[in-house]
Amino acid sequence: MGKIIQLDDALSNKIAAGEVVERPASVVKELVENAIDAGSTIIEIEIEEAGLVKIRISDNGEGIEESDVPLAFSRHATSKIKNEHDLFRIRTLGFRGEALPSIASVSKLELVTSTGSDGTRLILEGNKVVTLEKCAASTGTDITITDLFYNTPARLKYMKSVHTELGNITDVTNRLALAHPEVSLRLIHNGRKLLHTNGNGDERQVLAAIYGMNIAKKMIPIQAESLDFTIKGYIALPEITRASRNYISTMINGRFIKNYPLVKAIQEGYHTLLPIGRYPIVLLNINMDPILVDVNVHPSKLEVRISKEQELNALVADTIRAAFKTKELIPAGLIREKAEKRKSEQAAFDLDHLPVQPPVKEYQAPDSMPISNFTGNTFSHPSISIREEQSAEAPERMSPAAGFSIQQHAADADSGNASIRSQIEESWNKEELDPIFPAAEDGGAAEVPLSEGESFNAQDEGIGVVETTGCRVPPLYPIGQMHGTYIFAQNERGLYIIDQHAAQERIKYEFFKEKVGRVEKELQELLVPITLEYSTDDAIKIEENRVELESVGVFLEPFGINSYIVKAHPQWFPKGEEKETIEEMIEQVLAMKRVDIKKLREEAAIMMSCKGSIKANRHLRNDEIQALLDELRRTSDPFTCPHGRPIIIHTSTYDLEKMFKRIM
Ligand code: ADP
Ligand code: MG
Repeated sequence: MGKIIQLDDALSNKIAAGEVVERPASVVKELVENAIDAGSTIIEIEIEEAGLVKIRISDNGEGIEESDVPLAFSRHATSKIKNEHDLFRIRTLGFRGEALPSIASVSKLELVTSTGSDGTRLILEGNKVVTLEKCAASTGTDITITDLFYNTPARLKYMKSVHTELGNITDVTNRLALAHPEVSLRLIHNGRKLLHTNGNGDERQVLAAIYGMNIAKKMIPIQAESLDFTIKGYIALPEITRASRNYISTMINGRFIKNYPLVKAIQEGYHTLLPIGRYPIVLLNINMDPILVDVNVHPSKLEVRISKEQELNALVADTIRAAFKTKELIPAGLIREKAEKRKSEQAAFDLDHLPVQPPVKEYQAPDSMPISNFTGNTFSHPSISIREEQSAEAPERMSPAAGFSIQQHAADADSGNASIRSQIEESWNKEELDPIFPAAEDGGAAEVPLSEGESFNAQDEGIGVVETTGCRVPPLYPIGQMHGTYIFAQNERGLYIIDQHAAQERIKYEFFKEKVGRVEKELQELLVPITLEYSTDDAIKIEENRVELESVGVFLEPFGINSYIVKAHPQWFPKGEEKETIEEMIEQVLAMKRVDIKKLREEAAIMMSCKGSIKANRHLRNDEIQALLDELRRTSDPFTCPHGRPIIIHTSTYDLEKMFKRIM
């Protein structure tokens, strides 16, 4: 008995319509998703010329029954849903029954599949049957697509450079690998292995394969549960950041999804731990009853609608916040910093020799490759240039692709090197690895790839996070001050250097944040009232937000047309800077599109913390240093200033002894 059924019109009309096969990466995505849905544990993806010449996906899944084979290639035929009821309870990646016919209609396709007994071979050209026959085959499915878009020149013309298309393919593959650590995925491009995950179910292993061991080591596990949601994942320590959001991977029920509020919730979890404009590396797997998530929103199924979204986002933000609350987040200074820098410099150098591509998003393309390089079936190698712009539908880049030589490398080299390196170097089987990676031999610069059978163990690897209870900064004893800017302190664990201005900002920020959260009625009368004048536009906006302004301690009384007078302010306003403080808070309100009281308080606290802090070049006595350190230790986030810059770095006694060659 076959499993695939043709959906009736009423049901197929309810499925988000739209083309799914826009570029080679979409073919890879659909076919690998089919393989995962078929219960495969090993999937191999073989690509030639970024998929325009050949895409072959073979899996060891359940296979397709002979009688189902032709049906699989007709529109709206699927084994995954039967009726409308199922449409709201989708547990598979596919359900639209459109991928195979869509792919087949724009390519030459060969399918060999078997459910265990006899196999079936089907050859199609533009979805017309050329051959359909029995054959010998092992259980699983093997699909080869050649000459993609051969009969749709318009779409072929739309293709970007090999780089871009291959980048899209590695993105898709990386995401599928992250969402399915239980499946061993192998991606090979022009005979070169770009990714190989071992399928043992360990997400950190996949993270290591994609981002490199050094990054994976600095990711900490999180886990939480509420009535409706279970979340599990890994979050990078705040010291590792990226310039784009693309390293935040969110999955719902095994499906990679894009959801801006969820990303915001993750950022909120990190809060002030990240520098402004920098983003973390995060892998977040969310599981929920499929009834709570509508995946039938967009044909690519990348966007979803989540019920109880706010509850989920709060859970995510709280879990991340809590994970860092118990960690000592002091980055290593001096010696290790130096070693890491040397590493990244070396890696940047290696990149020049590497036939690989940096992350396209963070890369300035010198010029674009003429699309006419694609001519029918032949796809000529471009001399390498990268087209930056992507179509709106093209998946955003999440990590670099490999495969071609380049002259430039990314400005933000650190974000690309590790993953480029690891993608290529990463191998469970050394012999199979192409010798394209000159630096790998000289040791120093290389990420440490996991070798066959080796498993990733955070404890063994000495993951650099110390768990603490209570005070997260150990007691510190002042040594002195340097350049009126840095405080040196010590304890039995080594040397600590503290940026005194950043420390003070953190202390003040937490003070003001507390104060601005609850404005007391006791006000300080001003000797000379402050008068403020605004344009009509601004005055309208101020008028609308008088209540919000009062909630942060700004009490305005109308004083003629478009003017206000301030007679008093809360006691705790930064001394001597009351007028500026009031003016800046009004500026903030004016600058906000929609005044959000929480954000206003946050910004007010940050602004006031900058005002009252000791500026650099101020001499501190040892007792003042001690007081500052003690206050810093009492803050809830003693490691970064409100702008996300580090406050404190540490060099261990061991590192110092190594530096002076007291130990080897
Ligand atoms: P959908 O995945 O939405 O059902 P597709 O067009 O992608 O639609 O696939 C049609 C059907 O073909 C699937 O429902 C499934 O039964 C079968 N199929 C496709 N690929 C595979 C595969 N790799 N292994 C087993 N069955 C497959
Ligand atoms: Mg499918």
